[in-house]
Amino acid sequence: MTHYDYIIIGGGCAGLSLAYKLNQSKLKNKKVLIIDQEAKNKNDRTWCFWADESTPFDHIVFRSWKTIEFLSDDFALLAPLQHFTYKMIRGIDFYEEAQQSLAQNPAINIINEAVLSTQEIDNQVIVKTSNQTFSANWVFDSRFDKSPFSPEMPENHYLIQHFKGWQIQTKENTFDTDKIRMFDFRTEQGSEVRFFYILPFSPTEAMIEYTLFSKYLIAEEEYEEKLRDYVSNSLKIKDFEIKETEFGIIPMTDYKFKRKQGQRMMNIGIGGGRAKPSTGYAFYRIQQDSAQIVQSLETSNQPFFKEKNSRQFEIYDALMLNIMNRKGESIKEIFTELFKNNPIERILSFLNEKTNFFTDLLLMSSVPPAPFLKSIKNVFLSRNLVK
Ligand SMILES: Cc1cc2nc3c(=O)[nH]c(=O)nc-3n(C[C@H](O)[C@H](O)[C@H](O)COP(=O)(O)OP(=O)(O)OC[C@H]3O[C@@H](n4cnc5c(N)ncnc54)[C@H](O)[C@@H]3O)c2cc1C
Repeated sequence: MTHYDYIIIGGGCAGLSLAYKLNQSKLKNKKVLIIDQEAKNKNDRTWCFWADESTPFDHIVFRSWKTIEFLSDDFALLAPLQHFTYKMIRGIDFYEEAQQSLAQNPAINIINEAVLSTQEIDNQVIVKTSNQTFSANWVFDSRFDKSPFSPEMPENHYLIQHFKGWQIQTKENTFDTDKIRMFDFRTEQGSEVRFFYILPFSPTEAMIEYTLFSKYLIAEEEYEEKLRDYVSNSLKIKDFEIKETEFGIIPMTDYKFKRKQGQRMMNIGIGGGRAKPSTGYAFYRIQQDSAQIVQSLETSNQPFFKEKNSRQFEIYDALMLNIMNRKGESIKEIFTELFKNNPIERILSFLNEKTNFFTDLLLMSSVPPAPFLKSIKNVFLSRNLVK
């Protein structure tokens, strides 16, 4: 049985980000095994995030933007991002960069097998795959177990962010490559949150997504119908070709994900609670998490670091999820007022959980109070958060 210092289960975003960070640290000579059931060699997703600092994969950023557009029925905003940059990384570029860089280090191996079980025995973890058995001092697990989650779970909110995207090519110059359309709420809301999102890559190429925050998926045809209608009637594009499609589901929950699976096993990625509950953004948080895990290993020889107390943000997330759950259509008005009454930097810092309580009060006083009143009662009286 081969022994490793670290075994990382899952060579997706969190697994490769952690290994990449380890490989740049004092721990780069530690023996590492990454096990993924799939060869990660497809452009299966794109990651977008905003930051006001440099980030570990800046050299493979595919496109970046400095202006954001927000559209609602009676409000339009074009806002320069000031200190922030909105960045996009293609999945395939990330996988190739991480895998090629890790392949230079003989102490790091990647294999494609399914992990079937893990067990802690005598200060080490035994990891069994479909073909082999390994042991490790520490295991980092990025598998996401969906089984506890359902929209009807009593103690927590559970919604999904789901989206279908078309990467289209037009004949004519159509897109303004200086700005992303972050929210276009000019669409029927139903009882959920629904909006369009546009990432322009060139004057003739863009990714256009139809996104919902809701309890359940909609029929496959409905995403397609909405996209076709938006492209033809809102964007007035008659002649276009769909080059690629993207479909994704991201959990949006205030469930308290366990970080420890045992004394020597740490959950990372979505399964380690790294997606922001009210937005689903996870990439930037995963980079911050990887850096903190590696720092903890370097300084204290164990990965569990003391997490920043973000209780105020847990409460805001739970309130937003409660409103989405009860009255999703009211998010359109909340977001419209939020973008109307606040500088964009304040909103983006808040969503990155980098604001103080005074700034949070300014943001909260800028949105309609009615939907929050009932949610405050729900969240404080009946939810896990206050136990
Ligand atoms: C289509 C899509 C687009 C997204 N876009 C954004 C975005 O723009 N911005 C953002 O911040 N977030 C985005 N997200 C959310 C989040 O960043 C991603 O889901 C991210 O990939 C999560 O990283 P992860 O490592 O937790 O999961 P993954 O990247 O999915 O990695 C988990 C890995 O575990 C492997 N695995 C699972 N079970 C086993 C097993 N038994 N044995 C071995 N391996 C196993 C899987 O094959 C997979 O490779 C997006 C998500 C999706 C699905």
